Amino acid sequence: MGLVPTMGALHEGHLALVREARRLASFVVVSIFVNPTQFGPNDDFARYPRDLDGDVSKLEAAGASAVFAPSAGAMYGPGEETRVRVGATAAPLCGLFRPGHFEGVATVVAKLFALVGPCVAVFGRKDYQQLAVIRRMAEDLFFPVVVVGHPIVREADGVAMSSRNAYLSPEERGRARVLVEALRAAGRAFEGGERNPAVLQAILRRVLGGEVIEYAEVLRPDLGPFEGAIGDRALLVLACRVGKARLLDNLVVGEEAVP
Ligand code: AMP
Repeated sequence: MGLVPTMGALHEGHLALVREARRLASFVVVSIFVNPTQFGPNDDFARYPRDLDGDVSKLEAAGASAVFAPSAGAMYGPGEETRVRVGATAAPLCGLFRPGHFEGVATVVAKLFALVGPCVAVFGRKDYQQLAVIRRMAEDLFFPVVVVGHPIVREADGVAMSSRNAYLSPEERGRARVLVEALRAAGRAFEGGERNPAVLQAILRRVLGGEVIEYAEVLRPDLGPFEGAIGDRALLVLACRVGKARLLDNLVVGEEAVP
């Protein structure tokens, strides 16, 4: 049994996860649930894109065996109060900008693991920190599941696919390219031999220019800070606001090809 948790409004990135799960498991459950507990009061829960019928036809074509699309009341029944408390992995980056977000993510994924009982679960590396939090949670809570990370699926111009790209006007969609352009510039500098994390971070910030940066960091792939020079690998990780959309992107230089 394989599981691919999603919030719906599915695109090719999600479908790639489903195909990977189908390769690893003979029966693949895709969950579609816009999880209220991972959204803050000022987040986009109410306007998050929803298209269950469209999603179900895409999933049939991608080879999913079953779709699990519960109501909020089914996942959080009367009197429920239990949450998964996350730790240091969830603290930096998105954890600083979205208090409580990863507690909500870890809680709903634990519920999905318990309900579905998968032996393998596939998550995207686009949400790099989320993947790290879920790996930690699965290990700490002894879920008998292998957590697989899938590479970022990108549009033809390199922009990472995201359900939130639907919020972008055509002009903003053009501006959204700066995220991948920043990763490319810093990735090329790394490939040219640059190993100073501060220099790579300065390149990220310079290319992002006037966009609203939540964070643009150069970290160890385990999310810790570098003390001194980079070794063979580094995580370049970005969160920016473009119009109403909060966009994420990342690249592990020394491991992944520059996009
Ligand atoms: P979401 O519906 O945004 O919660 O995403 C559901 C799953 O799909 C998560 O594991 C995401 O990391 C993954 N995902 C979303 N976009 C992409 C992408 N462009 N490439 C790879 N995985 C993705």
